[in-house]
Amino acid sequence: MSAPRLEIDLDKIHYNAQLLATRLSARGISVTGVTKATLGSPAIAQALLKTGLHSLGDSRIENIETMNAAGIDFPMMLIRTPMISQVDRVVSHVPISFNTEIKTIKKLSVAAKAIGKRHGVVLMVELGDLREGIMLDEVANIVREILRLPNIDFRGIGTNLACRSGVAPGVRNMEVLSNLVDTIESTFSLKVEIVSGGNSANLNWTLGETGIGKANVGRVNNLRLGESILLGREPLYRQPIEGLHTDAIRLVGEVIESKVKPSLPWGDIAESAFGKIDLPKDRGPISQAILAIGRQDTDPCGLQPPAGIEILGASSDHLIVRSSRDDIVVGSEIVFQPNYSFLVRAMTSPYVAKVLKPLSSCQPIG
Ligand SMILES: *Cc1c(COP(=O)(O)O)cnc(C)c1O
Repeated sequence: MSAPRLEIDLDKIHYNAQLLATRLSARGISVTGVTKATLGSPAIAQALLKTGLHSLGDSRIENIETMNAAGIDFPMMLIRTPMISQVDRVVSHVPISFNTEIKTIKKLSVAAKAIGKRHGVVLMVELGDLREGIMLDEVANIVREILRLPNIDFRGIGTNLACRSGVAPGVRNMEVLSNLVDTIESTFSLKVEIVSGGNSANLNWTLGETGIGKANVGRVNNLRLGESILLGREPLYRQPIEGLHTDAIRLVGEVIESKVKPSLPWGDIAESAFGKIDLPKDRGPISQAILAIGRQDTDPCGLQPPAGIEILGASSDHLIVRSSRDDIVVGSEIVFQPNYSFLVRAMTSPYVAKVLKPLSSCQPIG
């Protein structure tokens, strides 16, 4: 089989989505399955259906168009602020987008009116991670403005933490979000339909130590989950989530060289192809193998090796490992566990094959 390849087990992804949807539904929280890491793969999107999810979300309109064209018939949301250059595609192909700029929402309004459609807007608010979001004291003004815009429906409030600065979602920032929703509702005499509290990093707060039924989720009624569904882990501490498959996606690489070599380089040491390197410690001769995968394809540091294999370094096309196993011969394959950073880039690389294990016919009832 061709290598490197991502082996993707659709039954396990289906199971993960279903288990998360069930657990969160017990807390009054719906789940939006985030497809961006899969490039909007219709087969993977299909595996997310009939799991109890509320909707699918993607940050790129291209991916949503791919899923639409493949006939994935499910509510979808664009979860990144649209580019003004794409508003026509946005209003044509997705009923709801997440927004932070009134200028863009006005363009969406014009574009929606032009084709006689309505477009839903979820406003993202900044709660400290310093990625997307309207500053708190400006939210009410923007709500006031969008309520007047033709062909625009105000559908909800959301926030995103952890992704840029690692700010952990917790009791305090989620309470700020809930209070904001209360204020918006009383100020404008309306009901905020979607309160989207965050991504997989919110799972500790939602399901964590406090246990089901104890933590107060306040007004949060939706989470957008990508990594936890695909990899079975929460992204704050990268711990496995109880009961989920952490091996739904595996990376298989092929060994192209296997030799005993010194552990230290020799000669005058300058920068490597990717900048400065830290010299390894001298361990004497080691069994070193090279796999045909590199930085051009992915983030090689995002691989968890199997027992007996240690990742030493990588260049554009080579992943260098130390092996204490005796089966690492040229032509053999090594199976790794990818992390999210590895996954998003490997999915995007044309050099990494994607091999889907199809959904079995007897699905658990969704
Ligand atoms: C990528 C993304 C998500 C999903 O994040 P995970 O950590 O993969 O669950 C959720 N919301 C937004 C806005 C995103 O960009």
